[in-house]
Amino acid sequence: MPHADNSAATLFIDGEWRTAAGGQTRQIHSPADGTLVTTVAEAGRSDAEQAVAAARRTFDDGVWSSSSAWDRGDLLLRVADILVRDKAEFARAESLDTGKRLVESEFDMDDIAACFRYFGKLAGTDSGRVVDTGTPDAISRVQYEPVGVCGMITPWNFPLLQVAWKVAPAIAAGDTFVLKPSELTPSTAILLMRALAEAGLPAGVGNLVLGTGAEVGSVLAEHPDVDLVSFTGGLHTGRTISALAAPTVKKVALELGGKNPNVVFADANFDTAVDFALTAIFLHSGQVCSAGARLIVQDELHDALVDEIVRKAEQIRIGGPFDDDAETGPLISAGHLHKVEEYVATSVAEGAVLRTGGARPDGERYAAGHFYLPTVLDEVQQGSHAVTEESFGPVLTVERFTDEDDAVRIANDTHYGLAGAVFTGEAAKAQRVANRLRHGTVWINDFHPYLPQAEWGGFKQSGIGRELGRGGLGEYQEAKHVYQNLRPGPQHWFSGE
Ligand code: NAD
Repeated sequence: MPHADNSAATLFIDGEWRTAAGGQTRQIHSPADGTLVTTVAEAGRSDAEQAVAAARRTFDDGVWSSSSAWDRGDLLLRVADILVRDKAEFARAESLDTGKRLVESEFDMDDIAACFRYFGKLAGTDSGRVVDTGTPDAISRVQYEPVGVCGMITPWNFPLLQVAWKVAPAIAAGDTFVLKPSELTPSTAILLMRALAEAGLPAGVGNLVLGTGAEVGSVLAEHPDVDLVSFTGGLHTGRTISALAAPTVKKVALELGGKNPNVVFADANFDTAVDFALTAIFLHSGQVCSAGARLIVQDELHDALVDEIVRKAEQIRIGGPFDDDAETGPLISAGHLHKVEEYVATSVAEGAVLRTGGARPDGERYAAGHFYLPTVLDEVQQGSHAVTEESFGPVLTVERFTDEDDAVRIANDTHYGLAGAVFTGEAAKAQRVANRLRHGTVWINDFHPYLPQAEWGGFKQSGIGRELGRGGLGEYQEAKHVYQNLRPGPQHWFSGE
């Protein structure tokens, strides 16, 4: 059943809900069964330009940017309360758009509320510092100021979480913004704008345009009145956005893809390593930027580990977002499913050994959705397409290593650097390997947890720009988040039975 008919007015510009100037609309269909979810306005360039103008004017009049940071923090806390109050509505909308299991959307909503609460409490706690001039005849201070108008472009895999990571700190900082969520998953962004208005966000501070990247996103990247473009999405789009932003030398923040290594030593706890290897790649059908898509396993453990992963992968139950027995769901679109199929075909043609999956599931239940079986590609070679390209689907590739140096060399042999993990029973080895991995987040005997108060971002081509607005050594340093589970054990996300 459709959750809303949004076709009338779903662009939020200058405090008003509007239809697209050109009258265009877009239908959103469930990735799980193809049913119509909702119809929303589809913005064009002129709508985006009006939104930028509203954000610019609102920033330049100075009322918002010079408002009390404590008040802005309180507003964010009120938004968090609304998110908790309306959690069921938000989670349902997220699941309808993405096909993601309802329970996962509910987890996401908890993370999103926590994100608003975190930045709500952070607002106003650090407005700058006094600098010692060495003389009583001068005073000196460093103060933090908002960047200005922020263009925000987000993907479809964790639609509202990605939006929250941009919107909440921007409000805390006193910026104004124009948000363009993925055209595939607009519903929760609409609900969020309603929540922001209810919480008292002044007109013009937060603006929402819905539409494609080429038509609407590009305006945010190239417009001279936008001071920062903050983008989360694929590497190729990130390159395009960097190029569009270059003529105006605007600040660019990029959170891009990953091809994330999961390094398993022979001395790792076997059941824990199997359990996390499955969760790392098959959660949300692999549509996670930090998915553990590359299993890198020590030679002597290879056969036993891969056999068990294959056995359990074949038992993962696939289904729609509201199917109680489903453990993972569909891919986002027919186009994305086709890309994953091509990725697997190319990998096999290059010599990867298909151990399981590699096809759509059989059965009437799956016929109208974009489902793909959990897939394991063994014996992939370094430098091959399977290893270098992100599939962003439920496809695990397997490589072997001999010793610690070999593991680090293979895990770092990628132009991505978003996240990685190491599983071992030896504490010192875990720390040594974590130190040497050139990836922004490294988990030890765990996979996936993130903390809003810790750094999140990519080394190498997985991202730029986390250091914006920070003092210290700024862009000359990378910040790596190393997270160690001190009581590792299977979590049984996938029952395997
Ligand atoms: P995408 O790059 O196709 O699209 C992301 C956004 O960019 C969408 O809103 C899209 O409309 C817009 N866009 C597309 N072309 C554009 C253009 N020319 N100008 C301006 N905007 C444009 O990515 P996706 O398929 O939505 O998401 C999947 C990708 O996102 C994966 O590569 C994944 O790894 C990455 N991702 C990264 C993180 C992270 O934190 N690093 C988080 C989630 C997803």
